[in-house]
Amino acid sequence: MNSIPSIVSKHKAYFAAGHTRPLESRLDLLEKLKQAIKTHEADLTAALYQDLHKSEQEAYTTEIGIVLEEISFVMKRLGKWAKPKRVKTPLTHLGSKSIIIPEPYGTVLVVAPWNYPLQLALSPLIGAIAAGNTVVLKPSEYTPAVSAVLSNLISSVFPNDYVAMAEGGPDVSTALLQQPFDYIFFTGSVAVGKIVMDAAAKQLIPVTLELGGKSPCIVHKDADIQFAAKRIVFGKEFYGPQPEQNPQYGKIVSERHYQRLLSFLNDGVPLTGGQSDPNHHKIAPTILDQVEDDSPVMQEEIFGPILPLFTYSDIGEVIEKTQSRPKPLALYVFTTNKEIERAILENLSFGGGCVNDTLMHAATPYLPFGGVGESGIGSYHGFDSFNTFTHKKSVVKQTNRFDIAFRYPSSKNGLRMIRKILK
Ligand code: NAD
Repeated sequence: MNSIPSIVSKHKAYFAAGHTRPLESRLDLLEKLKQAIKTHEADLTAALYQDLHKSEQEAYTTEIGIVLEEISFVMKRLGKWAKPKRVKTPLTHLGSKSIIIPEPYGTVLVVAPWNYPLQLALSPLIGAIAAGNTVVLKPSEYTPAVSAVLSNLISSVFPNDYVAMAEGGPDVSTALLQQPFDYIFFTGSVAVGKIVMDAAAKQLIPVTLELGGKSPCIVHKDADIQFAAKRIVFGKEFYGPQPEQNPQYGKIVSERHYQRLLSFLNDGVPLTGGQSDPNHHKIAPTILDQVEDDSPVMQEEIFGPILPLFTYSDIGEVIEKTQSRPKPLALYVFTTNKEIERAILENLSFGGGCVNDTLMHAATPYLPFGGVGESGIGSYHGFDSFNTFTHKKSVVKQTNRFDIAFRYPSSKNGLRMIRKILK
């Protein structure tokens, strides 16, 4: 692999030469990317199984299919999004035109985590390419099989000076963060998000941070309990009896995360689940009862198939408790009562979420996806991906047919006129 500074300087040169700009070539590459994903589908499915034991259905639904859909969505609309837009001009600017010109930032760094190793690498990449940037992609070191397929796939579509993969762990990320990127898009933990923002601040590089944290799920007493149960279990993991022995049931990505999750099981009493398989790093979906608010499972991000359960009698308590914590990435409420729904949506701040469902807000290209407060900065998916990787260059095109005299200090009644207009 080339050294990191050399990759970035080649990307800068490639961008400066204008190769990433023409709309036709962006569309052509997105189409090629789509075809390459289809060509590599079997390899990707096998790699997702190898790294995470994702079943074929889960692999297609949450990784491959969703990325294909994102490409199709973007391709259909890119022509419109990429066009300069004329906007209104105020009276003070009489005679001129105002235009917003969408412009790619340049050379973008995308850093991805392990849990959706394909989707969380390719979704930002699609937005960055659509907007006309080059991309250096740093996938997670915990999913080497997916990274290997991704690397073949990407090099079959893009020249290395356009999209390059930089594989490795925090050392590689640290080296990347020293480089003069024009934009950084990071998905991962809050702790590493702070490191990324700190490094970006030193060079004033704009960032999107897609972070984590704790995401509450509120089931009110009037909820349709059958649907609520099914949809909440779907949002965690859904694999019938003895799921930890089901080969289609996802495994925990590393020994460290497996041990971390096992220790959470001591923070309460399992109502269901609790079984684990150390040989395959699997933990059965577990509902934990009798959990203390200050226990680690309630203080730290879980990121695994464990669901601590609390009961409440007053929705006000739930609102207060959620308000006292960092703003969640996602929040789910199950209720048939419009007042309860309104109280939650109006009083609580969270990245995004669902009423009477889980996760589905993240799977539509029509909704921006991102956090707020500690759960993140910025958003993407669909138009928001294009927008995230685009600088909006604002231009006033002045007329030479005449010149408005009153703006100049030498003008006799200038200030009086300005006062009439600017009020
Ligand atoms: P992580 O923060 O440990 O790692 C994410 C990426 O950062 C990896 O590529 C990793 O190599 C790199 N990295 C690790 N240490 C680094 C350092 N010191 N400096 C620079 N880069 C470093 O996260 P993870 O364990 O891969 O993923 C799980 C986390 O990601 C959870 O907190 C989860 O909530 C979050 N997440 C958020 C979203 C979202 O869309 N908001 C989606 C998935 C995961």
